[in-house]
Amino acid sequence: SVPAAILSALSAGARGGVLFKGGAALETLASVSTFAFDKTGTLTTGRQEVVGLHCAGDESDFLARLAGVEAHSEHPIADAIRRLAEARGIAPIEVREARAVPGEGMVGVDDEGMIWAGNARLAQRMGARGVEQETRALIDSLHAVPQTLVLLGRGPRILGAVMVEDRLRDSAPAGLAALRRGGVRHVAMMTGDRRAVAERVAQPLGIEPAAIHAELRPEDKLRLVSEMAGRSRVAFVGDGVNDAAALARADVGIAMGAAGSEVALQAADVALLSEDIGRLAAAHALARRTARIIR
Ligand code: ADP
Ligand code: MG
Repeated sequence: SVPAAILSALSAGARGGVLFKGGAALETLASVSTFAFDKTGTLTTGRQEVVGLHCAGDESDFLARLAGVEAHSEHPIADAIRRLAEARGIAPIEVREARAVPGEGMVGVDDEGMIWAGNARLAQRMGARGVEQETRALIDSLHAVPQTLVLLGRGPRILGAVMVEDRLRDSAPAGLAALRRGGVRHVAMMTGDRRAVAERVAQPLGIEPAAIHAELRPEDKLRLVSEMAGRSRVAFVGDGVNDAAALARADVGIAMGAAGSEVALQAADVALLSEDIGRLAAAHALARRTARIIR
């Protein structure tokens, strides 16, 4: 039978918005000394805004095509682009045969042929590596920009780019500080986003450059969590479909439950129903107190 101390800790956790799927997760959390965090939607709100736009040709035509591609995506980035087009009164161009390239963007077909929208990895896949100087100069000039870049391209040609960003959760700096005070020795960030963006978000959180892992695919997050788990007990906190494998692999997988994906919730051992990162530190402390009682 489950010790009374664990039962009461599980219910205290639930009252604080932290749902453990069982007593084992609570017991394991007590010995976790490494916390790895996904960035977008976990440490940040996940609500993206377009903050910049660069294009060579007509801006309205560019936005109509970009919004047309993103009309078929459920990614928060797509949402930001659709809102911008709408705010400017620009109707999206019809795009057919649209499909997502996970972790990279979208491809489809418009009135002029194949079109794609996404990051530099997708651009490379589409052959934008060997493109004309103009395009390369654009990518180079945007390299250090601390925002997520969405490139719109046709084959190897890049038509333009928008920059999007979201905000750090208000509770993140204090929440991470509380985790460290509670005995967590390593805090890491793992993101599919660009390094420049990851560094901007990590800086106010005191996450050191060596603990920032950027431009990761889901399998990269999984591999990194496995490596860390070989050295110490690891909790991974994430919200997305792209976090599911890492959540399942971590000693304790913690899903952002309020706005997170169903897949992440299923893979996790713990659901954080609040958006307050500080609740994680409270749960970690609760787990440690409980472990001391039952030992
Ligand atoms: P994240 O949660 O970090 O955004 P994803 O795996 O969903 O992770 O996406 C990784 C990257 O792929 C994004 O940062 C973005 O550059 C690109 N991407 C994904 N979906 C889209 C989309 N619909 N439009 C443009 N870029 C996208
Ligand atoms: Mg995320």
